[in-house]
Amino acid sequence: MTSSVPPFPPVPGPDPRIDLHAHSTASDGTLSPAELVRAAARAGLDVVAITDHDTTAGWAPAATALPPGLTLLRGAELSCRWYGTQPSIALHLLAYLFDPESPELVGELARIRLAREIRAERIVESLRADGIDVDWSDIQARAAGGTVGRPHIAQALIRAGLVGSTSEAFEPRWLGWRYRAPKEDLDVFHAIRLVREAGGVPVFAHPRASRRGPVVPDALIAEMAAAGLFGLEADHEDHSPDERAQVRRLAAELGLVVTGSSDFHGEHKTVRLGAFTTSVSAYERIVAEASGVPLISVAG
Ligand code: AMP
Ligand code: FE
Ligand code: FE
Ligand code: ZN
Repeated sequence: MTSSVPPFPPVPGPDPRIDLHAHSTASDGTLSPAELVRAAARAGLDVVAITDHDTTAGWAPAATALPPGLTLLRGAELSCRWYGTQPSIALHLLAYLFDPESPELVGELARIRLAREIRAERIVESLRADGIDVDWSDIQARAAGGTVGRPHIAQALIRAGLVGSTSEAFEPRWLGWRYRAPKEDLDVFHAIRLVREAGGVPVFAHPRASRRGPVVPDALIAEMAAAGLFGLEADHEDHSPDERAQVRRLAAELGLVVTGSSDFHGEHKTVRLGAFTTSVSAYERIVAEASGVPLISVAG
């Protein structure tokens, strides 16, 4: 039986493993939400967060399939942008345990998902204009109603035999630069406010992941902290050891919680569930701060 649990569920095991960032087929992962929670249990995790891009569609099927002993933390990764510089800079905000029916947030998520469809179709059109045989309706059908992202286009390039991997598809001559199109994201300060208003807890995902594009300055992170940001994801595969240390230092300076997570995407990336983890104390601070929805666990 699935049940909601109060703020401080016992974290089982002597060395709890907490992974606060994972994607399913509700966005650009390759495991369904049900497969994701089963894989998380098999990987020995005690807590997994489902954080699909701009959607909560995976929450219910993940909860239904939740294996005993695993705690599900419901979240999302919001496509945000800092418009205070030219050109603006894209950034990802993890939002944990927010009310999925908070009207303004729901409206913004729907708007971003639509913007993603429009952008993906534009990218496909520019590929086709160069004689590259990728098909928008096929890509859309394979995304199966989940949030469309560039990894779905990357898969089409792989199927067409043009690239060997998702990361190759993100090289500058493909999606990284040549075939890029902007999408309308959510202003990051607006996002922090909406997440907080929905009882959620905002954490800045991979703040130093420079291989994805320009990153924001520390001064902006300080402004985000003043606006209600709660944490920084330090341990992430896209951060070097030095960058992880920098993020930790900044978090300490600003009084922010530090997290670590795999950002698992199934076959779309090589990283495994639990490759990076979050401390129990950081996890407990996030859970205590949240008031939108509870954790979910199943009595074993
Ligand atoms: P989008 O959300 O459509 O802007 O696409 C960004 C997504 O593509 C990220 O969430 C990752 O899943 C993936 N991604 C971004 N950069 C890379 C990369 N260099 N290699 C592999 N996947 C990437
Ligand atoms: Fe992704
Ligand atoms: Fe991200
Ligand atoms: Zn992610």
